[in-house]
Amino acid sequence: MIDGLVIKGVASRYKVDTADGIVTSYARGKLKIDGEIRVGDKVGVEKQGKDFVIAKVYERKNALIRPYVANVDVCFIVIAPVPAPDFMLVDKIIVNARMNGIEPVLLINKTDIADESFVKCTESDYQGVLDVIATSAKTKLNKDKIFEKTKGKTACLAGQSAVGKSSLLNMLTGTESQETGGLSKKTERGKHTTRQSEILVVSGARIIDTCGFSMLELPENFRPQELVYYYDEFAPYAGKCRFRTGCTHIKEPDCAVKDAVESGKISKNRYERYCVLYNELNEKWRKRYEQS
Ligand code: GDP
Repeated sequence: MIDGLVIKGVASRYKVDTADGIVTSYARGKLKIDGEIRVGDKVGVEKQGKDFVIAKVYERKNALIRPYVANVDVCFIVIAPVPAPDFMLVDKIIVNARMNGIEPVLLINKTDIADESFVKCTESDYQGVLDVIATSAKTKLNKDKIFEKTKGKTACLAGQSAVGKSSLLNMLTGTESQETGGLSKKTERGKHTTRQSEILVVSGARIIDTCGFSMLELPENFRPQELVYYYDEFAPYAGKCRFRTGCTHIKEPDCAVKDAVESGKISKNRYERYCVLYNELNEKWRKRYEQS
């Protein structure tokens, strides 16, 4: 048996990337997890006649819903000077990624048309939160750094429409496999709504060809108190609050997180968005409680 990774699946035929190259394999029904084998699944294949069959499916580290992919390691969150960034969305994707055991990395795209201050301010807001890489699909700035983050791993790209996800994917894979820009792409997408996702393999890096829609919204049953666990930069201070683990870092007195914001150790912008998100989640939770 040789191990490999499912990079594409159409009906019950799968393309599996193995140390011996990409092979086409068929699935035995009983092996599927939750009734299916997903793109991203780690499998063992065996030669059977002239075909390969999937003989084993390894346990998943994670599984996203839209797209249906498993075992994602890295999520590149893409922003650009245009369209104007939605940093609330960025922060939500960070939470979602961390919940799924996925490393979030922020890519500031279109630096060829960005003010230096845009890049600097964003880098400073996210310093100590996650890795930030300034790039440009046009000039290929820091292409190597992005590659470095995804070597031997599976990565997806997430973010608002038109920030340059498809262009970056083309840059990374050295192809024009993704149609970029505006309306024609939307029409195209409309036609292919059931399109399967595929993992593109380039020099040991694996990149999923569709962005992670499931990363954009927090799960329905997300508890507001859990939010803080995904703000790594709060961690060194959170235990020092007067109310320790009970502190939500919103209104409590003697809050070490708020002190760290005041003294500039935690980004004020990140903290303020944390408060907005916490209050939103709290409101949702309260409404749900009142209804039941
Ligand atoms: P997506 O919707 O996130 O996949 O974005 P696209 O890749 O389709 O890009 C949206 C638009 O931004 C297109 O017109 C691209 O040509 C343009 N674009 C993408 N990356 C860059 C970049 O690095 N610099 C500049 N100036 N334009 C870019």
